[in-house]
Amino acid sequence: MSTNTSALNSALYINEIKTCLICWENIDEMDLTFCITCNIFLHNECEKRERGVRGHCKCPHCQDIGSLGFFKNRIIK
Ligand SMILES: [Zn+2]
Ligand SMILES: [Zn+2]
Repeated sequence: MSTNTSALNSALYINEIKTCLICWENIDEMDLTFCITCNIFLHNECEKRERGVRGHCKCPHCQDIGSLGFFKNRIIK
């Protein structure tokens, strides 16, 4: 676990409303995608739509490739 990941963990577990960077709607935790580089949140669906255009996962905020993670996967771990 990197420092980045634990910082993100605290960000995720803070009980605040998370807003999607793409559509600005609130995000349910089960529908949450986040960027480990810049700590922004997206809907899984919004990220998928963005990725569909480019063919790879890229953060719409910091433009980092492969930095996006899914909250769902974290629960399974
Ligand atoms: Zn969205
Ligand atoms: Zn980012």
